[in-house]
Amino acid sequence: MIPVNEPLLDGNEKKYLNECIDTGWISSEGPFIKKFEENFAAKVGRKYAIAVCNGSVALDAAMIAMGIKPGDEVIMPTFTIISCAAAIIRAGAKPVLIDADPITWNMDVHQLEEKLYEEIEKKGNSNIKAIMVVHIYGLPVDMDPVLALAKKYNLKIIEDAAEMHGQTYKGKPCGSFGEVSCFSFYPNKHITTGEGGMIVTDDEEIAEKCRSLRNLCFIPEKRFLHHELGWNLRMTNLQAALGVAQLERLDEFVLRKRNMGQLYTEALSKIDKIQLPLQKMEYADNIYWVFGIVLKKEVPFNAEQAMKKLAALNIGTRPFFFPMHQQPVFHKMGLFLNEKYPVADLLAERGFYIPSGMAISKEQIKIVTTCLIEIVK
Ligand SMILES: *Cc1c(COP(=O)(O)O)cnc(C)c1O
Repeated sequence: MIPVNEPLLDGNEKKYLNECIDTGWISSEGPFIKKFEENFAAKVGRKYAIAVCNGSVALDAAMIAMGIKPGDEVIMPTFTIISCAAAIIRAGAKPVLIDADPITWNMDVHQLEEKLYEEIEKKGNSNIKAIMVVHIYGLPVDMDPVLALAKKYNLKIIEDAAEMHGQTYKGKPCGSFGEVSCFSFYPNKHITTGEGGMIVTDDEEIAEKCRSLRNLCFIPEKRFLHHELGWNLRMTNLQAALGVAQLERLDEFVLRKRNMGQLYTEALSKIDKIQLPLQKMEYADNIYWVFGIVLKKEVPFNAEQAMKKLAALNIGTRPFFFPMHQQPVFHKMGLFLNEKYPVADLLAERGFYIPSGMAISKEQIKIVTTCLIEIVK
């Protein structure tokens, strides 16, 4: 089976992990945490970085640290992972959804503009407090119009850059646009720590708040006295050791992904029955966190059936995100009932991604493309 995802761990990972074991520093108190945070902040061009145990809780802590509270509303794309909506709901706020752009698969910025006009100017809705920007699969969200809208309506921006390590928008790093920005280091991301996440910000107060939330809101003055409720979101020194080693190779990893994207694009652009990710927009070159494809209507089967056919040929695949407005868990909460987002629905029905791991070889790419062309022809 050609795996859909596979990390590369053949740099300094072993050496740094051995250092942890040799020195006995395995908890979150160890020296690799600080090093990983400092190196990561520098890479993204932010003042502060706070390492946490995964990308989902990074979003949870970020929402609270930004001051999102019950009664607030936060705009987000419907086509994303559940972590985004969960963070908003757990802060007591309400997610407001925007459909996807059919070409980039990111939040449709025109619909964002219309929604804000509709809600804020026409209805006088004053509960909308923030926009959660999520960069999907490889191309960043078109940030300039989003930043302009945030300024116009005085909204905060939280950026989910979990799929965007090493990506830039008009030359500026993804992860540098939010009041708070979050990353994940799950093994399918550009760099991995096994499980892990990072919160970055330039705001000292928010950084302090995130550090406190990460560590049960202990206070320095008196041990075991708490004024607020936090969580244990700490990353271990072992994970940070992996992170430091992985970060050393981020530029190389980005190149690898772009080469993978180039090879897939060359081989697959011959068949016009499938939609491929764009290689570049005027603001960014695709970083191909995953190589996603969408079956056009000429193909007489959907993504689920295509993935079955490919599995029979030993090709690993994953479905696209299943949109938030179709999630039973949210319907039970009375959310998004009867809301319609046709682009996200189409992506979920006809989109999936093919093997896109860091370790994928030219030969494997050739096998994948041959099989894919075979099943749709
Ligand atoms: C992976 C991912 C997350 C969640 O990260 P975990 O570390 O798996 O919790 C959040 N948002 C996006 C867009 C992701 O791709």
